[in-house]
Amino acid sequence: MINLSGKNAIVTGSSRGIGKAIAIKLASLGANVAVVYAGNREKADETVAEIEQLGVKAKAYSCDVSSMNDAKNLVTEVIADFGGVDILVNNAGIVKDGLILSMKEEHFDSVINVNLKGTFNMIKSTYQHFMKKRSGRIVNISSIIGINGNAGQANYASAKAGIIGLTKSAAKELAARKVTVNAVAPGFIETDMTAAMPEKAKEAALAAIPMKRVGAGEDIANAVAFLVSDEASYITGEVLKVDGGMAI
Ligand code: NAP
Repeated sequence: MINLSGKNAIVTGSSRGIGKAIAIKLASLGANVAVVYAGNREKADETVAEIEQLGVKAKAYSCDVSSMNDAKNLVTEVIADFGGVDILVNNAGIVKDGLILSMKEEHFDSVINVNLKGTFNMIKSTYQHFMKKRSGRIVNISSIIGINGNAGQANYASAKAGIIGLTKSAAKELAARKVTVNAVAPGFIETDMTAAMPEKAKEAALAAIPMKRVGAGEDIANAVAFLVSDEASYITGEVLKVDGGMAI
């Protein structure tokens, strides 16, 4: 049985969607959670309230993970508020889809900056803290799109593939200090992000899932809970697909 009592977790992008499900799952296993959001204070407060009902500590933090300054300030604040960080989940992400031919340069840059650079910024900002503690868990949310690519998502696929390279590099750097770094690659999960997809694209995605159901945030949260647990202490640099078989 996974027990995260007394652990402090930062979950980026936990005001909504997959991040919220991860934050609630970790809290249900005993972790205190720093709920990080970009602009949606109301939703972040809802996540905090749900976590507090589970009898652990939670606080909402506004932070644009694509800014190194914001990331550094966030980590300093969380350490002051919670007394330390044991778990970092880099989940914050955005999409700005389009074929390469018509993709605006700023849409390529912003997707790289939030998804990939944001993950780098958060790892860099917690790095020394984890090194000193000689323990820690980092889980980065990639995507099966980062493994397989996708027409219309060159920016997103590049960012999510980059996260896999970043995960493996950080895993090698931090392994000797007993800090594990893994990635979870979700398939098609029902959230605001996928709700915005055209109906036809949704139907095609569902048809490509051997398990014939769309995933839920909880499916991803269960995988993250395992990877941050003591039970996963010998797993690092791994990319765990959670996709109902979509990328087989
Ligand atoms: P979502 O519902 O759109 O939620 C995105 C979350 O990220 C929100 O909490 C948002 O905060 C936060 N965020 C956005 N930009 C940010 C920034 N610059 N700094 C800090 N936080 C920021 O997305 P989701 O579907 O849950 O996706 C979560 C992660 O899973 C993403 O990395 C996504 O790429 C990945 N993923 C999703 C799927 C899927 O099918 N849904 C599949 C594979 C991978 P606000 O609420 O304040 O805006």
